[in-house]
Amino acid sequence: MMEKASGFLKLEDISKSFGNTPVLKGLNAEISKGELVSFIGPSGCGKSTLLRCIAGFTRLDGGRIVLDSKVINDELPHRRKTGMVFQNYALFPHLSVENNINYGLRLQKLPRRQIRKRVEELLELVNLPGLGSRRIDQLSGGQQQRVALARALSLNPKILLLDEPLSNLDANLRVRMRNEIKRIKEQFDLTVLFVTHDQEEAMSISDRVMVLSGGKVEQFGTPEDIYDRPSTDFIAGFVGLVNFIDGTVKQMDAQGHRIQVKSVLGDIEVAGKGENVRIGDRIRLVIRPESITVYSNPGEIRKENFFQGEITSSIYTGSLIKYEVRSGDCRLFVEQYNPKICGKLAVGSRVGLEISKQLHFLKGKP
Ligand code: ADP
Repeated sequence: MMEKASGFLKLEDISKSFGNTPVLKGLNAEISKGELVSFIGPSGCGKSTLLRCIAGFTRLDGGRIVLDSKVINDELPHRRKTGMVFQNYALFPHLSVENNINYGLRLQKLPRRQIRKRVEELLELVNLPGLGSRRIDQLSGGQQQRVALARALSLNPKILLLDEPLSNLDANLRVRMRNEIKRIKEQFDLTVLFVTHDQEEAMSISDRVMVLSGGKVEQFGTPEDIYDRPSTDFIAGFVGLVNFIDGTVKQMDAQGHRIQVKSVLGDIEVAGKGENVRIGDRIRLVIRPESITVYSNPGEIRKENFFQGEITSSIYTGSLIKYEVRSGDCRLFVEQYNPKICGKLAVGSRVGLEISKQLHFLKGKP
């Protein structure tokens, strides 16, 4: 019987040590068919190890990997119906593009004509039509990456595993390849796992992002969940810049929609979503730099969440200005988009600051 779509890939209690060093410590997750999931986390946290365990290049110490209702722990890599693209592409440099792509098809002893047709389809798919007879060393890095992708797709894998596939490409090419991976994934309803050390890449390409830390899944959610509603301060700080302001719930309405928090900055009102907090609870506000608006006229007074400050650093990046602003004992990171409209303020300027009420917070902090 077909597994429910939500459990197309199940990672159950996965553990793996190298020598005496545990890397994966009872990791659990379920991935749906057709999802593109990125693994992110600090370097050395086990992202590649997890991917290699799924591909079958690394043996688990414990746990089960279930793909499309089948436990694949003991299957050889080429029988798992997974396709993998390695960071260094791992192509055969002395073979032609065609013979790299058709390697798996030839091992399956398919008829020659069928193999040739499939290679042509794959070359079209990865935008390399007509390059089948080129040698690998006659290709650019971006083209090699496309060959590796075509090879990984050649046997119609149930799941495509990508281990930092874009890290050797320049910035523009990375963005193009990202979009192509997304296009291919959508065209074939492919399930894709993508290891990257680049949080922005993960956020922009993924349906869901899995943050690994301490050998387990720290949070697994949509890019919006991870950025706007991080479950821990580690995640809030790992993905993007953040200002933490600790405080105590001073007042709130019965529904928990208006929560007033006493902090070193002053009282900050938060638009709650009915979270389970009570007056007196300690909380940590997670304030993203774009949740603060800078007003060049410090005398401007707005009713709530309005504070005075002084700019201590100002960096212009074209599409945005990054400020550091001191307000009382707080140092805040603030980002203002579209400098042409909001203007550029010099270090030393006295400013007004308005903090959005749409704030996420972590309970029981510090
Ligand atoms: P990430 O991809 O998150 O950067 P890895 O999965 O590559 O991390 O590595 C996790 C940890 O396991 C690291 O400390 C790494 O040194 C170690 N490790 C990975 N592969 C091996 C191996 N084959 N032998 C010994 N240690 C390994």
